[in-house]
Amino acid sequence: MTPRVPAGAALALALVLAACTGDDGSPSPSPESRAATPPTTTTATSPIARESELARDACRTIDRDVLLRTWRGVRLDRSGDVQIIPIEPNFVSGGLTHATPFDYTQEVPVFLYGPGFVRPGTYDAPITLADVAPTTAALLKFPFVARDGVAQTQALFPDEERDLPRLVVTLIWDSGGTNVLERWPDSWPYLASLVPHGAWFTNATVGASPSNTPIGHATIGTGAFPVHHGFVDEYIRVNGFLQKPNANGPAFMLEPTLADLYDRAMRNRPKVAAVATLAAHVMMMSHGSQWGGADRDLAVTREKEFGETAGAESVQWNLTSGMAPFYELPSYVNDLPPLSRYVEEVDRADGALDGMWRGNSIEQLSNGFDTPARTPFQHALVERLVERERFGVDDVPDLLYVNYKAIDTIGHLFSADGIEMSDAVATQDAALERFVEFLDRTVGRGEWVMVLAADHGTQPDPETSGAFRIDVAKLETGLRDAFDDGDDVAVVERVRPSEIWLDRGELRENGHTLADVSQWLLELTQADTFKNQNVPDPGHENERVFAAALPSSILAALPCVRGSSS
Ligand SMILES: [Zn+2]
Repeated sequence: MTPRVPAGAALALALVLAACTGDDGSPSPSPESRAATPPTTTTATSPIARESELARDACRTIDRDVLLRTWRGVRLDRSGDVQIIPIEPNFVSGGLTHATPFDYTQEVPVFLYGPGFVRPGTYDAPITLADVAPTTAALLKFPFVARDGVAQTQALFPDEERDLPRLVVTLIWDSGGTNVLERWPDSWPYLASLVPHGAWFTNATVGASPSNTPIGHATIGTGAFPVHHGFVDEYIRVNGFLQKPNANGPAFMLEPTLADLYDRAMRNRPKVAAVATLAAHVMMMSHGSQWGGADRDLAVTREKEFGETAGAESVQWNLTSGMAPFYELPSYVNDLPPLSRYVEEVDRADGALDGMWRGNSIEQLSNGFDTPARTPFQHALVERLVERERFGVDDVPDLLYVNYKAIDTIGHLFSADGIEMSDAVATQDAALERFVEFLDRTVGRGEWVMVLAADHGTQPDPETSGAFRIDVAKLETGLRDAFDDGDDVAVVERVRPSEIWLDRGELRENGHTLADVSQWLLELTQADTFKNQNVPDPGHENERVFAAALPSSILAALPCVRGSSS
């Protein structure tokens, strides 16, 4: 299925087609020549001709994978009205975002471990996070047709040579993308020691842009991309309003997860649980009882209700009021040893109990919650839940979903390159070792399977990567200055790293089109958009910052993207 194409875009399609394939039908230029080709300034006057010119430039200048990921991440009813793609590795910056279409945040580890179930080896075929759910279904021998993913059965023993596992654990190292593991290769010795005994996928990506948490988790759970499951970003437009994806509990996710269908088909006999931080993480598990005929799966989060940012954590394990009716929060989750016990270990690591970790005040890091201490703290809860709820005890395969968020939090604070990240990864690796030993002890060796993955990578330090930071605030004020008419209706609804929501009626009333906005964005330079003290390097002031800016409807009609599997 392809996204619906509005009338305007359909009209433009013929023009776009001619533009994107090239008059002589020659293949697209190589990535090298693309990178060297700057976006052009359009001279066309009619809206359709200008949109087709924007589209042609995007097909000519942008790597096809980048456009494909962007397209898979767009739904015209929910996404921003204009898609923006910086010139790699630049990024639109409030903070250190990982929401990009580029390899450096899209490449993720996917590792299957399960003696007797998983065929050890290194697998080089390209896969995406949409393949996780159908692969898990294959382990369960459960018929499941994913919208976009494919079961990676080459990494499993044949059906007749393996029994059903008692437990399948899906374990997410949030933000622990390939770029993090490669940056700190000595910080995960235990995982490295497991690799020869499992299936390691060397060419796994998120597969859809922007690579952020709601997208990654919904894709893992459903085997579908945002174009189908509807979690297109940290915000989605529903009924004309921009809302958080889980503002209404699980209701806005449009596709069922594997666990939704499997649990119901098995008459809710399997135990199903998620231990995570945010409601969005739970969506890799299920809609809970909201999916007709299903029961309330166990779920534990720690999300601050109506938090300013997507990552705001509560002081207790909880469920948000939107999620609470559909899931069961176990009664004992807040009765575990306190975080302070684990914070002390982090504090002592440098030899002194002085309230500091790597030169940072622990108090200022949410009293230690934003340090690696939260990993063993959460892990104690995971083990308690597995024991108390008797996961993996009977013959009916159970499903456990766990998200660990320390790498993500520390990445936003210190980047992928901060020395703090090496501690975050090492602590995660130590928790993995404890977990494998625990599962071997309680469920039994050869009785369970683990899928370990990340939902996206982490932004490197711009000093290292050479990225130019495009100030999101300057984009917003610049757009207002250029396209608002000063009445009390704001034309700009929200600017995110990969897309911009506008009040399209107001834009039209002010005499502008989405092509005007796109063209304005394309012409922005480093001098127009630098963030804080990060002034452009001498000689770079007049360099453009965006490789593409496109009305979202045109993106859905790009022939250089269409024709590929969605
Ligand atoms: Zn994430």
